Amino acid sequence: MSEPGGDSLTAIFARLIAATGPISVAHFMAESNARYYGTRDPLGTAGDFVTAPEISQMFGELIGLWLADMWIRAGRDEPVHYVELGPGRGTLARDSLLAAKRFGLTPRVHFVETSAALKARQLELHPTAQWHHDLSTLPALGPLLIVANEFLDALPVRQLVRTGEGWRERMVGHDGQRFVFVAGSQPMDAALPDEFREAPEGAIVETSPAAAATIHEVAGRLAAQGGAALFIDYGSGQAQLGSTLQAVRAHRKLDPFAAPGEADLTAHVDFAALARIAQSRGVRWLGTVPQGHFLRGLGIEARAENLAAFAPEHAAAILSARDRLIGEGQMGALFKVMGLAAERWPEAAGF
Ligand code: SAH
Repeated sequence: MSEPGGDSLTAIFARLIAATGPISVAHFMAESNARYYGTRDPLGTAGDFVTAPEISQMFGELIGLWLADMWIRAGRDEPVHYVELGPGRGTLARDSLLAAKRFGLTPRVHFVETSAALKARQLELHPTAQWHHDLSTLPALGPLLIVANEFLDALPVRQLVRTGEGWRERMVGHDGQRFVFVAGSQPMDAALPDEFREAPEGAIVETSPAAAATIHEVAGRLAAQGGAALFIDYGSGQAQLGSTLQAVRAHRKLDPFAAPGEADLTAHVDFAALARIAQSRGVRWLGTVPQGHFLRGLGIEARAENLAAFAPEHAAAILSARDRLIGEGQMGALFKVMGLAAERWPEAAGF
């Protein structure tokens, strides 16, 4: 699998590991996804995976209505900013901003995006948006309406493994042929979440310092400036033992070590941990609910019927898109929506 030379990430990692020793799972995942997203648009049926906004305009529209509803009932503060983290092709922003506009919400648009390839796509739909590499440069004045769909799952996870000598960081080594998991040499007991202290030898605990830092910053901004946020991703409400690291290419799962930089690496989002972080910053956690519950609560069924009646030739496609978004065996149960709002902001629909 490893080539002796070349600039494939496989070759670069193999040389790096040979020269300096194993690298962390987090390092492996961060570099892999930076290369992956930086060099392509992975979305759509011809690409590697399909996301909710690419399935139907209804997804973005309902999010736009949710934001407009919150902003109107909070008192229509201006200036107000729409902030999307990892906006992909810009499709969700297009649909949500169009829906929000019908209710008088026309926020300034900010995208947090590190991929040059995707920024070029976003620019086509949103020529007046402002781009940011991270949240630190977002405006400090005015409420923030923050949306992130399938963003947190792409951030690097750190894995800890329980060995005979205690907890160690889970690392990626190379045996001359292929990448292999190895335990790091430094004790990592101090980094272990309390609830897993008694896990048996061999157990793996996964955390996402990058996702935690994102929520910490988002919550701090909401507390200081007002606003609300929606994080949509797959994951469970409860922290669990084990690795959830997975790779997807061309709509198929593959070994995360098979093609670093050429496949999407993701991990489940630990929403319980993120809700605790938000609350510790003085922000209201509105709940973490299955995507199907959220979209039904916002009226996706009525919206689908309306669209289908309006365009009967597309009725079958519209209803099938609705089912993909809310169906139990489809995205409706696996995907979760976590809502956050500033303390003085109103109660939210959909939770
Ligand atoms: N939200 C879009 C795209 C999801 S793919 C949709 O639902 O279709 C993940 C997105 O996050 C991509 O836009 C990718 O370039 C971006 N991304 C991944 N890691 C990032 C990081 N560390 N900082 C900013 N953006 C990142």
